[in-house]
Amino acid sequence: MPHTPPDNPQDILTEAGQKTHDSEFFNPVPPGYKQGRHKYVVVLGTVMSGLGKGIFSSSLAKLLKDKGLTVAPIKMEGYLNIDSGTLNPYRHGEVFVLDDGLETDMDLGTYERMLDQNLTRDNYVTSGQVFRRVLDKERHGGYLGRDVQMIPHVTGEVKYMLRELAVKQNADVVFVEVGGTVGDYENGFYIEALRQLAFEEGENSVCFVALTYVIEPPALGEQKSKAAQLGLKKLMEAGVQPHLVACRAHSEVLAPAMEKIAMFSNVPMRRVFSMHDRQSIYTIPEDLRNAGLDREVLSLLDMHSRVNQAHEDTAREQWRSFVRKLTGDRKHKIRIGITGKYASLRDAYASIDKAIEHCGSHLSADVDVEWIDTTKIEPTHVDRVLKHLDGVIVPGGFGQRGTESKIACVRYCRENDLPYLGICLGFQMAVIEYARNVCNIDDASSSEFDANTKHAVIDILPEQKQIEGLGGSMRLGGQDVQLKANSLAAFLYRERSQGDDGKLGYTVRERFRHRYEVDPSYIEQLEAAGLVFSGRHPKQPIMQILELPPSKHPYFIGAQFHPELTGRPLRPQPMFMGLVAAAIRHASPNLTAEQITTRWLPKADLQPAS
Ligand code: GLN
Repeated sequence: MPHTPPDNPQDILTEAGQKTHDSEFFNPVPPGYKQGRHKYVVVLGTVMSGLGKGIFSSSLAKLLKDKGLTVAPIKMEGYLNIDSGTLNPYRHGEVFVLDDGLETDMDLGTYERMLDQNLTRDNYVTSGQVFRRVLDKERHGGYLGRDVQMIPHVTGEVKYMLRELAVKQNADVVFVEVGGTVGDYENGFYIEALRQLAFEEGENSVCFVALTYVIEPPALGEQKSKAAQLGLKKLMEAGVQPHLVACRAHSEVLAPAMEKIAMFSNVPMRRVFSMHDRQSIYTIPEDLRNAGLDREVLSLLDMHSRVNQAHEDTAREQWRSFVRKLTGDRKHKIRIGITGKYASLRDAYASIDKAIEHCGSHLSADVDVEWIDTTKIEPTHVDRVLKHLDGVIVPGGFGQRGTESKIACVRYCRENDLPYLGICLGFQMAVIEYARNVCNIDDASSSEFDANTKHAVIDILPEQKQIEGLGGSMRLGGQDVQLKANSLAAFLYRERSQGDDGKLGYTVRERFRHRYEVDPSYIEQLEAAGLVFSGRHPKQPIMQILELPPSKHPYFIGAQFHPELTGRPLRPQPMFMGLVAAAIRHASPNLTAEQITTRWLPKADLQPAS
């Protein structure tokens, strides 16, 4: 059948990817896709990376979500790794684990927190994944005898993935964040795919935002926009005319720099925004709203009619009340120490940092975080770095370095009534410490750092892995945790319960990323000596939370999971709230529980069910 190429490339979208002719248009479209129903905001970085594309994009997505729209963010990474699991947090920031188990980067954490929305593996793409899909398709004869090319096939796959996300998550707006900077060799095909997407979807469908950087050399004391102009030019060379420009800078970007940027990028001044450094990223949505960003985006995407005003009013009021607490004066001042191998790099613990920030705001505490590098202190000297603190966190980690000092830190906290929160490795350290110093199992250790130990209280349990079908790999993602009735954990989590199982207590869901766990054969001995395993896997003998009862210690708790990954600004994470509340009491022992918070401070007679 002779084929007439469509005059309008958009016509092809109705053919649901069924094209077999030799047209140069290649627009595979997933079933159920309705053109015009789904809109796109694309955020691209110029000048340099690390400017906070994710922060801008998530702030804008939040503004639209508040209006009752469904938003689906997606991060597109240039690197070839299939996921972030093997990346060094020193170089890339923390590995953020999604509920479905995908290991992603810290930007996904920013989206989840800002939007209070769980994301899935569809919200994260690397070029490795794109190429793998294309190559798999090619092996299965998916390209009908054609040579497979970067354009149109790889770019076509990118467009397909975006549209698939739009359909799966029923998105009004898909927020696309491209990693790296315009001009990077590795993300060029993403930008080309997005340019094509805008062409195919038609007017008012795709809004391009260029995030750029305005330099302020201290020697000049003046804002210079040349680098920004060059960056924007580079974007236009790639065939993309930005609709909006967001200018990152240290201090508020002033009219002269903004005007030059507007002038050289064809973007009117009302669509050029200053995104200068803030005390907290959580103030950004409201500031950008006041600058008119949401209104401009709605106009560009022709979406004013989809706004739910009542929804926005409520959501906005809740957020503003949180931000008022965040930026207002605090009643309390506390110091929390965090031990960690990557102590010199805050990004490696981004979610912990944020979880603490949320709690500080809700409990009116100014939290001073001290990072403690345990590889640099002797186990016998930990008191020197801990004695002025009000609380300690031993976070997740891998490998042996610094672990003896971490165990010494746990001991110090336990013996000196210093509030303690152990996370993953920090949970395991607490088990080892208890086994050694309370149960007198002298050489108790983890087989992760001592393969020959006689007492691997923390071990890899192959039977367990077989049951869960994990093989040698890590236990990743969301799992249910059954909480013991009347335990400290059950007290803290009482508003997050997923349903009550009567005497057994209730279950909550948290995210895991570990290989080792408590060897069940030691549980009886540890519990007989007073340690309580208050959170367990509902069916397997996997210990997921430990604690000391409030009668024995003001706050001593540990989780095999990563509680920081589920902390949200308006729904702060319970174990962190408990820690901050206990730290306030530690800092000001004369305050009563009522003066701090009875919600997060358990009564001393709380007794877990046996
Ligand atoms: N290294 C430990 C394990 O693999 C802890 C992991 C972690 O802290 N994320 O079990």
